[in-house]
Amino acid sequence: MNKHSKVNRLRQIIAIDKDLETILNLPKSLEEKRFLLRRHLSELLITVFDESQRLPPLEWIVCRDAIWVLRNILAPRSEELSGFSLLSYVDTLLNSTTSAGLQPVSSAFLAELEHLLKGCTGNSGIYKEKPPAFLSHSGRRAAKMRSTDLSRMARNSAHAMSRYCSGLDNDLQRQQSLNKQAIQNHFGITDLEWNDWRWHTRNIIRHPETMGQLVNLSPGEAGAIAKAKKNHIPFGITPYYLSLMDPENNKTWDRALRAQVIPPADYVDQMIEYRQNDECSMDFMFENDTSPIDGITRRYPNIVILKPLLTCPQICVYCQRNWQIEDVYSEGAALGKKKLDRALRWIEERPEINEVLITGGDPLLLADEQLESILTRLARMNHILRIRIGTRTLVTLPQRITETLVQIIARIQEPGRREIVVVTHFEHPTEITPEAMRAVQKFRLSGIGVYNQLVFTYYNSRRFEAAALRQKLRLIGVTPYYTFNTKGKKETDSYRVPIARLLQEQQEEARLLPGTVRTDEIVFNVPRLGKNYLRAAQNRDIIAILPDGRRVYEFHPWEKKLALVDTYIYTDVSIYDYLQRLKADGEKIKDYETIWYYY
Ligand code: SF4
Repeated sequence: MNKHSKVNRLRQIIAIDKDLETILNLPKSLEEKRFLLRRHLSELLITVFDESQRLPPLEWIVCRDAIWVLRNILAPRSEELSGFSLLSYVDTLLNSTTSAGLQPVSSAFLAELEHLLKGCTGNSGIYKEKPPAFLSHSGRRAAKMRSTDLSRMARNSAHAMSRYCSGLDNDLQRQQSLNKQAIQNHFGITDLEWNDWRWHTRNIIRHPETMGQLVNLSPGEAGAIAKAKKNHIPFGITPYYLSLMDPENNKTWDRALRAQVIPPADYVDQMIEYRQNDECSMDFMFENDTSPIDGITRRYPNIVILKPLLTCPQICVYCQRNWQIEDVYSEGAALGKKKLDRALRWIEERPEINEVLITGGDPLLLADEQLESILTRLARMNHILRIRIGTRTLVTLPQRITETLVQIIARIQEPGRREIVVVTHFEHPTEITPEAMRAVQKFRLSGIGVYNQLVFTYYNSRRFEAAALRQKLRLIGVTPYYTFNTKGKKETDSYRVPIARLLQEQQEEARLLPGTVRTDEIVFNVPRLGKNYLRAAQNRDIIAILPDGRRVYEFHPWEKKLALVDTYIYTDVSIYDYLQRLKADGEKIKDYETIWYYY
């Protein structure tokens, strides 16, 4: 669409609400129009409340929410916070003879506005089917009809989940075991060495040439890895994790695995730019501002993070700590004896702290004795009620979970007095293998709970993809714990997913799973301040829709009723662009169409 046809399209969209169209066409000042529009929306809201019979109940709720969003967007406070006035932008496009200096209208912007106005006028049209028949019956007859409807729903979700194979499925197990054999042959090793975690750390795949000998790399992938290596951007994969990939690179079932460890070209370029510019900080979460002493991060009253080691057996591209992790399994990444001692003493001197999350990096790369010494020291502090160990080795290096290690960790547990839990990070069902399951089971059989933190990226965000993961996680003994919105870091823009998709996934996919399986909380991590629970709509507001279709949110920190802390302004990725990308990847956009009505 050229500019002229886009403005014409804008006129058609504005005409969805006739009163709004009339106001925008009046020969009045912007402030007078703002006043009339806000009054119109207030009246519309009153009408919606008074005439609730006019709309079906759920359309009524969509309508109420959409009006609330538009009213908020029109507020001068929102414009000031977001630095953008949707009203002025639309008014100029419709009524001004010149739009010089104005950002071009995008299809993404038009799509947002169209859905918002359809919502405001009670025309979202997302409820196409008639009310279910069982509602007009009662007793056994109603129950049978309801049961038939529920069976249909269950079959549909099971069918959708069956698209995503897991490492426990026979076919994939066979493939992954062939891959393992090929890697063993390449290195000339036996099962004995393969099952030794130290062999894997000694043989981490650090170069595109080695990786290319074991799995097919596209020229783009090989080029990006080579450029990353040349510029000292961390890259590395354990031989075990490599064995989970599709050696043929058919771009089907292993895309989530490759995306985690193969840095895309735009990521590499952005990282190089950061490195060349001293002014740029990669510390997106402002961890430096929440670290009262080396090795410690504190964002909550009772919990602290202890980071004894800042390296991992492989590097996740979207890692929040990529500003601290200098290389894969690198020397000199440990905190150092003196600093570690000071950090532990700091915890010891603060009896109000009762939970310590030991993370990094990956603390299970420490030698058994080092880990035991940290755990024993923490266990001596009477005020520590819980120790969480954050590790991805269950996914990247399950060989690390030896009987000795599990015993060291389990010994610290004392029912009624101190709990130990393991928090891990599975991203996709393809990572759930017999080896990973055995590692999880070792902890479970020793009475240690294992929880999962999922980072919701573009690569695991398709319909029912995360639901399939939750199902499998529970079956191997892992409890879904958090689902994180991918951080809004520039270098990992291509991994981001609109917040609306997280909300949609929770309501329309996770919700179909039993309560024992959908145990995770969807969260947005507010830099410096900590987690914001997305399930609670009162924790955020949409304050703008930008010309490129991105929504701007104002997040309210968790402690908003306890302390006067600032809100946080966040610009999301555009829903339209996200859907277009899914479409290019073969998804049916129709399956996602309700996404526009999640705010
Ligand atoms: S395992 Fe965690 S700390 Fe290590 S690279 Fe991945 S996200 Fe970062």
